[in-house]
Amino acid sequence: MEKNIIHHNIELKSFNSWRVGGVAENFYICADKQILSNNIKKGLLIFPLYFIGLGSNTLFRDGVIKGTIIMMHKGIGDIFQEINLFYADAGVSCSKLAKQIAKAGFAKSAFLAGIPGTIGGALAMNAGCYGAETWDYVSKVLVIDTQGNQIIRFKDEFKTGYRKVINKKKQNEYFLGAWFNFPKGQSDLAQNEIKNLLLKRKKTQPLDWPTAGSTFRNPHNNYAAKLIEECNLKGYTIGGAQISKKHANFIINLGNASAIDIEKLIEYVRKRVFDLKKIMLETEIKFIGDNYAPK
Ligand SMILES: Cc1cc2nc3c(=O)[nH]c(=O)nc-3n(C[C@H](O)[C@H](O)[C@H](O)COP(=O)(O)OP(=O)(O)OC[C@H]3O[C@@H](n4cnc5c(N)ncnc54)[C@H](O)[C@@H]3O)c2cc1C
Repeated sequence: MEKNIIHHNIELKSFNSWRVGGVAENFYICADKQILSNNIKKGLLIFPLYFIGLGSNTLFRDGVIKGTIIMMHKGIGDIFQEINLFYADAGVSCSKLAKQIAKAGFAKSAFLAGIPGTIGGALAMNAGCYGAETWDYVSKVLVIDTQGNQIIRFKDEFKTGYRKVINKKKQNEYFLGAWFNFPKGQSDLAQNEIKNLLLKRKKTQPLDWPTAGSTFRNPHNNYAAKLIEECNLKGYTIGGAQISKKHANFIINLGNASAIDIEKLIEYVRKRVFDLKKIMLETEIKFIGDNYAPK
């Protein structure tokens, strides 16, 4: 698909890890940050804008999605080292950056290696696992606002927490890239750590199925997976969407799921867990598209 131009009526199934969703009225792959700025400034991109990476944490709803989906993956993908800082464009995959950092003799990037998304998505979500989070290692970021201006912002301009990132200065800015500050380490140890964490994931997660990872946030002092399992929901299925038998916080697409099947299953789980445990689960995944109202 040609980059830096607007495409119309693009099927979204191939742009998210659940392999579901409708059609984007406008779809744009950003392969040049300056052209993106110019196109926004000239008013060529129809609002609202939805920036996405690999769609590994996103449920695109069925039907027509208005506005413009701007995909950074397969578009901007530069990585470079500036003394002890690593710069990565928003479209770089987390695993690629993690491996490059380890190879260069820096430690602690292993947690990023198993996150099947982009740097842009990891920054927006504060993606993390095994006790580490993306923003632990951010030094500064390059963002773009809704007028097309590019701005460098430092870490202290953001409030970050568990899967939460708030821009203290301005809402509606999007990530174009970031500089990371990982500690010096030993290349062979760092690369081994990546291998071991990837093996651990394979054992515990249903990686052979289309999924978006953890569907729900862990409630305070509890685990969503444990609560769902205790409600006997492993394997529960609506249409083509199923609560994974391997990991109760993962919803898998058995092959023919629609976005509505997944959303109905999400609502069913929330209701069941609330009825039995008196805890209302909140979703970790993000929704794009018109609201579905559960009946
Ligand atoms: C098998 C599996 C395992 C997973 N394991 C983990 C895990 O261990 N830990 C974890 O945290 N997550 C995990 N995830 C979820 C997901 O991979 C992460 O949230 C990841 O950071 C999302 O990246 P993405 O590029 O796919 O984002 P997308 O799904 O494309 O986007 C996610 C959100 O970020 C926004 N966004 C994306 N790019 C930008 C940008 N450039 N600027 C501004 N906003 C943007 C989107 O609008 C959306 O709201 C897993 C998912 C799967 C499928």
